[in-house]
Amino acid sequence: MARVIVLGAGISGHTAALYLRKKLNKSHEVIVVSPNSNYQWVPSNIWVGVGLMKPEDVIFKLKPVYDRQGIQYKQALGMSIHPEGDDKNETGFVRIKYVDPEKQGQEEDVAYDYLVNGTGPTLNFAATEGLGPDKHSNSVCTYDHAAHAWDKLKISLEKMENGEHQTFLIGTGHGLATCQGAAFEYALNIAFEINKRKLQKMADIIWITNEYELGDFGMGGAYVKRGGYITPTKVFTESVLAEYGISWIKRAGVYKVEEGVAYYENLDGEKKEQKFDFSMLIPGFKGANMKAFDKKGEDITSKVFVANGMMKVDADYSGKPYDEWKVSDWPEIYQSPAYDNMYASGIAFAPPHGMSKPMKSKNGTPIFPTPPRTGMPSGVIGKIVAENIAYRIKTGRDGHPHKASMAKQGAACIVSAGYGPLSGQAATMTVSPIVPDWEKYPKYGRDINKTVGVIGLAGHWMKLFMHYMFIYKAKAKLGWSLIPE
Ligand SMILES: Cc1cc2nc3c(=O)[nH]c(=O)nc-3n(C[C@H](O)[C@H](O)[C@H](O)COP(=O)(O)OP(=O)(O)OC[C@H]3O[C@@H](n4cnc5c(N)ncnc54)[C@H](O)[C@@H]3O)c2cc1C
Repeated sequence: MARVIVLGAGISGHTAALYLRKKLNKSHEVIVVSPNSNYQWVPSNIWVGVGLMKPEDVIFKLKPVYDRQGIQYKQALGMSIHPEGDDKNETGFVRIKYVDPEKQGQEEDVAYDYLVNGTGPTLNFAATEGLGPDKHSNSVCTYDHAAHAWDKLKISLEKMENGEHQTFLIGTGHGLATCQGAAFEYALNIAFEINKRKLQKMADIIWITNEYELGDFGMGGAYVKRGGYITPTKVFTESVLAEYGISWIKRAGVYKVEEGVAYYENLDGEKKEQKFDFSMLIPGFKGANMKAFDKKGEDITSKVFVANGMMKVDADYSGKPYDEWKVSDWPEIYQSPAYDNMYASGIAFAPPHGMSKPMKSKNGTPIFPTPPRTGMPSGVIGKIVAENIAYRIKTGRDGHPHKASMAKQGAACIVSAGYGPLSGQAATMTVSPIVPDWEKYPKYGRDINKTVGVIGLAGHWMKLFMHYMFIYKAKAKLGWSLIPE
C-alpha cells in the first residue's frame, strides 16, 4: 500500500489527485491537503469582476467530490516538508496546520510515500507598498477578490452615469509580475462594459505593464498567424487595445500604490505616477512559504526550493545567461532532484529562467515579466505527474514514461473581450511550443502553423463552453477524464 499526498487543490493539484485516484486501486491512499474548502475555476473570475457571474458560479465544495472519489481531504495548509522523516518518523512527512473550523490551528504530521506540491502562487501583495484589495488596488486573482473588485467597479460605473469622469488603471502591480493575460482580459471586459453602457466619453482606460513591448505576455512575445498574415503579438495586442479605446504605459514597474495613485519606475529609470479612480493590478507571485528539514531537523529549504519559494525540479538552474538557454533546460517530469518521491506541478515548480528578456532600469530595478504557467500546462503537468507516480507504484520501477515539457507542449489561451450570445468577443491564441524553440524554429521560434491568433464571437462561445466543461470535469462527473486538460 502506498500513500500519496497532494498539496493544493487548484487546477494542477486537483487534476493530479483525480488522476491518481483513477489510476491507483483503493489499497493505495490519496490525500489532498488544501486550505480552501472550495475548488475555484480561476479563469472565470474575470466575469465575476465585471458582475457577469457570481462567486458561486465559479466554485464548488471539494469534500463531496473527494468523498465520492475515495480521496481523503484535509482542509489545512502544508507548513513544512520533512523528506527524510525525523527521529519519530521513518518516512517522509508533511507538517500541516488545519484551517478547518473544527480543528483550527491544530498541527499534524502526515507521512507519505510520494508527495505532489501543487500549491500554486502566493499572491505577494506585500512586495509592492499599498498594493492589494485590503489596501489601495483591486485584484481578480481569487473569486472573493473579484467580487470585491466588482463592488468597486459598480461605484465607478454609477459615477460615470452621473456625469463624473473616471480613470481605470489595469495591469501589473510589480516589476516582475506575470499573468499579464488575465489583467489584459479584465481590461478588455471593463472596456466592453463601459461601451455597452455608452459611457466611453466619461472614461480613460489605461493598461500598465512591465512588458518591454505589448503582447510579450511573459513568453517573450510570439508571431501568430492571423488571417493568412504573420503578425507579432505586439501588433495584435496594440490593435486590440486601440479598438477598445485603451491607452497604455509599458516598461513600467509599479512600486507603490496610494489611494487613487500608482507610482512606477520605467526602464529609463524615471519615477512617474498615474492617477486612477479604479485599479486592478496583478501582484508578484512567490511560492507557498513552506520550509524543508532533514532527518536531524536541519533547515534544507534552499536544497528543495529556490529563493522565491517555488520548488526545484528536473530543470537547469545553473543561471546561464539569457542568450544561452536552451529548451532542454525546461523540466519534463517535475521531479525534485533532491528527493525522487517529490514532485511539483503547475505554478509551484520553479522555471529555470525567464522567457522574456530580463531587463533592468537605469537604477538597477528589474522590470520584466516572469514566465506564466497558465491553466492548460498546469493541468497537463498535474496529469503526467499523477500518471508517473501511479506507474512507479504499480510497477515498482523508477521510470517516468509520461513527459510534458513546456518547451514541447502547446497551449491555448482565450481572452474574453465581451459577453453575450451575439455581442460577445474573445481573442483566441494558440502557441506551440509555449517556450520558444529557436533551434527547431529559427524563423519564428514556434511552429507558425500551430501559433495562431483570432478575434471574434466564436472565441467567446468557446470560453463560455470551457467554463462549464472544466467545472464538469473538476467535479469528476461521468466521463470526466475524456475531457482534455
Ligand atoms: C484572474 C485569472 C484569470 C486567468 N485566466 C486564465 C485563462 O483564461 N486561461 C488559462 O489557461 N489560465 C488562466 N489563468 C491562470 C490559471 O488560473 C493558473 O495557471 C492556474 O490556476 C495554476 O494552477 P495551480 O494549480 O498551479 O495553482 P492554483 O490554481 O492557484 O492552485 C493552488 C492551490 O494550492 C493551495 N495552497 C496554497 N498554499 C498551500 C499550502 N501551503 N498548502 C496546501 N495548499 C496550498 C491553494 O489554496 C490552491 O488550492 C488565470 C489566472 C488568473 C489569476
